[in-house]
Amino acid sequence: MTNTTLSVAIIGAGPAGYYTAEALTSGDQDVRVDIIDRLPTPFGLIRAGVAPDHQSIKNVSRRYEATNQRDDVRFVGNLSLGRDITLGELQDLYDVVVLATGAARDRPLGVEGEDLTGVIGSGAFVGWYNSHPDFKDLAPDLRVASVAVIGNGNVAVDVARILAKTAEEMSSSDLADHAAREIHSSTIKDIYILGRRGPLEAAFTPKELGELNKLENCVTLVDRSQLPDPAIDETLSGAAKKNMVSLRAMAENRPEDKPVRLHIQFYRRPMALVGEIEECVCGIRLEETIVEDGKCIGTGKSMVLPAGLVVPCIGYRSSPIEDVPYNARYGVFENAEGLISKGLYCVGWCRRGPTGTIGTNKPDGVGIAAKILDEVKPAGKPGREGLDELVNERSLKIVTFQDWKKIEAAEVDAAEGDAPRSKISDLAEMVSIAEGS
Ligand code: NAP
Repeated sequence: MTNTTLSVAIIGAGPAGYYTAEALTSGDQDVRVDIIDRLPTPFGLIRAGVAPDHQSIKNVSRRYEATNQRDDVRFVGNLSLGRDITLGELQDLYDVVVLATGAARDRPLGVEGEDLTGVIGSGAFVGWYNSHPDFKDLAPDLRVASVAVIGNGNVAVDVARILAKTAEEMSSSDLADHAAREIHSSTIKDIYILGRRGPLEAAFTPKELGELNKLENCVTLVDRSQLPDPAIDETLSGAAKKNMVSLRAMAENRPEDKPVRLHIQFYRRPMALVGEIEECVCGIRLEETIVEDGKCIGTGKSMVLPAGLVVPCIGYRSSPIEDVPYNARYGVFENAEGLISKGLYCVGWCRRGPTGTIGTNKPDGVGIAAKILDEVKPAGKPGREGLDELVNERSLKIVTFQDWKKIEAAEVDAAEGDAPRSKISDLAEMVSIAEGS
């Protein structure tokens, strides 16, 4: 490294982090990037968020692998900001620190009963079925008759679909083994996807919604009276038009068609979660709504829907980091187009909130890289070598990209049938494989 090398630490090895690293190192400027993650595994939401039966979306990780093959980009796993190293220390070591920490916390529903057992936010629930180490022991009780999934976005669709699919339908997925055992022996008969607004306001994308009408064991039902007058279809375009085709087809289905039913219900606003003995959720109180000028307005008419499991899929917030200004309203770091303060930037969901697809992070990464290269000049900071020294001093067990490939190989080796891998969710086991023991 020379005094003209710009040293960058990116915190978070998800799509936003990798696209930023790629963009920073693609030009003429001499830049060295360390992508630091608290987990021993790279790729963030690709591994722990994207649904286990959507393997084709996960293929984008090959592009991040290519980025990782470069000498000027390094993955440093199992190193946790706050636990192992402070932000101040990183800022002393690197010219630039970029936060790409995503939005890992569930947005609260803000209604009574949210703390009842059996109310599990989508971040935790998706983490559980995707083998995220933080949620491997979640153990949701699926010996229930009905489940309420709150929200009309793609995460709600993912959660409902994963609960509804049979073991055979999931055979070529990387669903966590612990989740497969529970889901495929569950007693669930009715799954409800609940939207507080109407079908025209739903955030589902057409492909994802359409998949719900192709399930082996589960019929998706829509109440025709909740759909707009068919004459309106002519005036629609894009996703809304395609979604309406799926919803109208679902309205033709009959409950007796398949053993499990998935009900998509609109105009239902959660008012409270209802508990019973031992503080377990047993239902959800909903208020009927109407939509005026896009806004949902309560009618005062309410009902209780029985549900032994409630999964709010209503968005996420970033986790605050000590000494980083945080906007609690939007759950993002305070920033001006990605700049938090001199030498400190943010990118992806922790900058703009939890919206868009994986690909949305690419222009984000390109944009923040250009801004960094424009605004920061190398100051001869120790960078990579300085971090290695600190890691040695503290006897930290970091996981390199080569180490991760050993973990990945172990997961692939353990896979059965058509499954691409059998994911490991235990941190100690991963670190031990990385160490070669
Ligand atoms: P989302 O698309 O923003 O949907 C959130 C849903 O929650 C909306 O229907 C919203 O309703 C509802 N909601 C918010 N607060 C609520 C409340 N207090 N009570 C009831 N409902 C409430 O978010 P997401 O589903 O978490 O997805 C996040 C992003 O990841 C999205 O951009 C999504 O497309 C993407 N994603 C993509 C895929 C894929 O491409 N396969 C898969 C998963 C996620 P209102 O509209 O009324 O606010």
